[in-house]
Amino acid sequence: MTDMLTVEAARAAVLDRIHALGDEQVPLADALDRHLASDVAAIADNPPHDNSAMDGYALRFADTAAASVSTPIRLQVIEDIPAGTMPQRTVGAGQASRIMTGAPVPEGADTVIRVEDTRSEDDWVEILEPEDGVGENIRGRGDDMKTGEVLLHAGDHIGPGEMGVLATAQHANLSVTRRPTIAILSSGDELVEVGQPLGPGQIINSNTPALAAMASDCGAEPVVLPVARDTEDAIRASILSALSCDFIVSSGGVSVGEYDYVKKVLTDLGAEQILWRVAMKPGKPLFFCLLQDTPYFGLPGNPVSSLVSFLQFVRPAIRKASGLTASQWELPTTVAYMEHDVDNRGDRRSFLRARLAWDADGRLQASTAHRAQGSHMITSMLGANGFVVLAPEEHVAAGGAVTVQIVADLGSAALRGR
Ligand code: AMP
Ligand code: MG
Repeated sequence: MTDMLTVEAARAAVLDRIHALGDEQVPLADALDRHLASDVAAIADNPPHDNSAMDGYALRFADTAAASVSTPIRLQVIEDIPAGTMPQRTVGAGQASRIMTGAPVPEGADTVIRVEDTRSEDDWVEILEPEDGVGENIRGRGDDMKTGEVLLHAGDHIGPGEMGVLATAQHANLSVTRRPTIAILSSGDELVEVGQPLGPGQIINSNTPALAAMASDCGAEPVVLPVARDTEDAIRASILSALSCDFIVSSGGVSVGEYDYVKKVLTDLGAEQILWRVAMKPGKPLFFCLLQDTPYFGLPGNPVSSLVSFLQFVRPAIRKASGLTASQWELPTTVAYMEHDVDNRGDRRSFLRARLAWDADGRLQASTAHRAQGSHMITSMLGANGFVVLAPEEHVAAGGAVTVQIVADLGSAALRGR
């Protein structure tokens, strides 16, 4: 235990060495899922003019207040105002202009009446029922956003709704934070790429595709390197080829086995070791160093260990480098209720791959029983949208509260993953 860091201490040591990467300009169409590099303000009022919320007639409310089906009020229609045109005439007493949704409200009119509450004939319209009051069905200039109003802040995520806001606010080009490039490097003599036949003693390299996918999911750009064989030369060449990336993430070769050369090669290359070994399960043999100022994560080789470690350490680093604010770096944590007993008999914090789902009472339920939980059991990640986090020696009975980290959507389809 004594030579192992806590997860918090390890994460803090990592994040301490990570800097925001700076920004780049992108056209709005390419801004989805990026993060803003600076605050964004409206450069004009929206709506740009008072306009009609309905297809109907723009008129003076006072003219129509007494209207009813039995005593309709007749008004003279003086013009048609389709959306995209400007009214040419001022509405006077006893007059109305036919107006379409979105069209600017003409001078003189203070209310729009819905076409459904009227009857029209040639240049006349009969009002069968007044609107509820002055101003009804008129959307005011600047109701939605006002010139100069700050709408979004540096670090904010751009989703589909934000795309609409940014378009409305006339930001055709945006300053967004740069996505970190992440070299993904797997090492091991036993590894064969997916699609290739397995020889005796060989296994599929599943870490590279899974880690690359996690990097993309976190908003980084994975750069996939070929598998490095278990020799110092091969590992050194591979690591040196990765130095053009912002981060390097390797899996395998950092344990205490005979052929675990990654740490040795890094040390020989003059890397500054920041941490080695974290009190967590899975994922103990984590190595983090700076190699010529490039953050290097040496993740364990076991498939689940590499993914859990990635989410605990690399993901927060990507998010910090991407300019997100500190509260957004770590996985969100909440409380859930166990569907069955769970135990952590070890002396390290454990991260069990869990399926989280809302029950009928709106309580978040957690189960880790979908597959076995070994660190070599990649199927434990199937549909896992969270981790149940257990302290050393923690035992929780069915129905008891546990801390969970949320990894993916908690939709109603959570039991299938996302
Ligand atoms: P290592 O840390 O290199 O000793 O690897 C630990 C375990 O993870 C061994 O069983 C390896 O075969 C396995 N492993 C290492 N790298 C990968 C990988 N890229 N894909 C799948 N399994 C791996
Ligand atoms: Mg190995």
